[in-house]
Amino acid sequence: MRITGGCFCKKIRYSATIDPKTVTICHCTDCQINSGTAYGVVVGVINEEFILEDGKLTYFEKIADSGARRSLAFCSTCGTRIYAKPADGKPGRFGIRVGTVDQRESLIPRQQAFFNSALDWVTDITNLKKM
Ligand SMILES: [Zn+2]
Ligand SMILES: [Zn+2]
Repeated sequence: MRITGGCFCKKIRYSATIDPKTVTICHCTDCQINSGTAYGVVVGVINEEFILEDGKLTYFEKIADSGARRSLAFCSTCGTRIYAKPADGKPGRFGIRVGTVDQRESLIPRQQAFFNSALDWVTDITNLKKM
């Protein structure tokens, strides 16, 4: 599936080819802290088909708990996280942050990663007051 997306301040625009079956909620502690919220939602890019259409990405490199070196791309103006992929060109998961995808309504999570570190409350929000 071909998608488009971008950051909060609109300086970054991209297009990519993704597999909608790979939409994943990630409960790892890196996603909790880096997103500033309870979990990350990512979708896998097929064959690294990510095209930066406009703007300039800034990168932060992080060694994940698994030991893998991950390159995290974000907008240096507004701070929106765009994607994470393996550093130094190694194969591995190239995940776009679903919140930045224009077509995010149609990207439904199919699995949850690192569920061991999920915050206790995230599995049951259906009865919370709706405002
Ligand atoms: Zn931005
Ligand atoms: Zn994660």
